[in-house]
Parts: sequence; C-alpha cells; structure tokens
Amino acid sequence: MAGTRERSYGATARSVFVTGGNRGIGLAVARRFATVGDRVAVTYRGDRPPAGENLLALRCDVTDGQQVDQAFKEAEAAHGPVTVLVANAGGAHDRLLVRMSEEDFTSVIDTNLTGAFRVARRAVRGMLVQGHGRIVLMSSTAALHGAAGQSNYAAAKAGLIGFARSLTHELGPRDITCNVVAPGLTDTDMSRSLTEEQRQHLLSRTPAGRLAHPDEVADAVEFLAGAGYVRGAVIPVDGGAGLGH
Ligand code: NDP
Repeated sequence: MAGTRERSYGATARSVFVTGGNRGIGLAVARRFATVGDRVAVTYRGDRPPAGENLLALRCDVTDGQQVDQAFKEAEAAHGPVTVLVANAGGAHDRLLVRMSEEDFTSVIDTNLTGAFRVARRAVRGMLVQGHGRIVLMSSTAALHGAAGQSNYAAAKAGLIGFARSLTHELGPRDITCNVVAPGLTDTDMSRSLTEEQRQHLLSRTPAGRLAHPDEVADAVEFLAGAGYVRGAVIPVDGGAGLGH
C-alpha cells in the first residue's frame, strides 16, 4: 500500500464503525464511507436510527462499556473486524464554572473523552490481530481556544488530542493510526441549539464567514482513514477560526 491512498471497494470493502452516526456530522461521515463501497456500522443512542440508509444501525450509548462491546460484536459479525473507527459521538452541556456541578463536568467528559476511550480500546483488539487500523477522533476548535461556559467540553475535546498522540506512540508500529479532526461551527442540531447571539459571535471569529457543512468534516475524516503516514495529527475544519493552532 506504500505511496498510495488506501481506499477499498466491493470485495475488499473496509469495515467502518461510526459512533453517533444517525445524524449530523456522524451521518455525513457514515454516508461518505458507504458511498465509496465500505461496510458501515453506525451507533445511535436514543430512538432515532438513520432511516432508509445502507448502514447497519446499532443501538449503543458510549457511556456504557457493555453496550459498546455488544455493538462491536454485531458489527464484526456483519462486516468483519473493524478497520476504521470514527469516534464521533459527543455533546455539550454548557455552564459557567461557578454554576457547573461535578455531574455537569464528569458527564461531558464521560461521553466525549471516556466514550472515545471505550470504543478505541474495543476496536484496537481486532486491529492488533489484523496488524492494521485507522482511528479518527472528533474534537473541536473549543479544544484549542477554550470557550467561556465550555470548560467541561473543551477539556474533554483537548483530552482527545493527548489520547490520540499516546495511541500513536503505542500502536504506530502495528500500523494503527490515530488522528483528530477539530471542526469549527458546523451546521447540525448541535449548532442549531445555540442562541443567535452565540452563533453570530462564533461566526465573527470565522474567516470563512459561514458554518461548515457536515460533508466538509467528512472530507477530512475520509482523508485520514486513507492516509497511513499521517499520525497524531489534528486537522482543523473550521473556516480558519483556529488560525495559529
Ligand atoms: P449532533 O448533536 O447533531 O449529534 C450528536 C451525535 O452524538 C448523535 O448521533 C448522538 O446520538 C450522539 N451521542 C451523543 N451522546 C452519546 C452517547 N452518550 N452515546 C452514543 N451516542 C451519543 O452533533 P454533531 O453532529 O454536531 O456533533 C458530532 C461531533 O462533532 C460531536 O463530538 C461534537 O462535539 C463535534 N463537534 C460539533 C461541532 C458543531 O458545530 N456541530 C463543532 C465541533 C465539534 P443520539 O441521536 O442518539 O442522541
């Protein structure tokens, strides 16, 4: 595979696992892999599996290790060992520090950071056997700048960077890569929940002057899943909002 982009179609399709793949960025990522011929499993937590899609939908809350294990078993049974993991599931619960309870803090860490740990640890078992794997973690520009009211979320998303770089050291010799995508404001349910004032503030700091489309984040994920010599990188997809990072 040296010197070429890794991409597989049809009989050699990759087994891809995307957490939080029922909507927003995760769904755009999952559709992208399915479009190029990969076998794609997506997790959803609540009662909204992706409808009418060529995707294997698995119910899984990433805060529950047993559900993670079960979802991997089902994905492996249907598609073979997972070779591409996209740890995308995440959410915010914004509060100023003085009003933030310990539960506000730890629940956001549990979903965004420990959730990625749970799925990466489970995926790596099979990747080690195969001697190959590609892991992409979904961070945020908040990891790089911080944001008032988001100390929990920014800490979790920044933690993903140290996590990815540690896995890069541990697993690099086994041809398992781990990279990070750091989106800026992207047009999904998450950004739609912001107030108009918050939205305008963030856009005023974004040279592109607009939100990202989820497909533009999928571009970076697809690249990283096929780039065997890119390791421990943080790829901003933020319209320039993170300049200098
Ligand atoms: P959405 O709110 O549209 O979707 C969030 C996804 O994560 C849903 O699929 C949701 O599942 C899933 N999820 C949340 N908590 C859990 C959990 N405990 N277990 C399993 N799945 C869970 O968000 P986006 O698509 O915008 O966000 C995707 C990722 O991108 C997140 O990690 C987010 O932090 C990051 N991001 C988003 C930005 C943006 O502006 N939109 C900017 C920077 C980063 P369900 O539908 O079942 O609730």
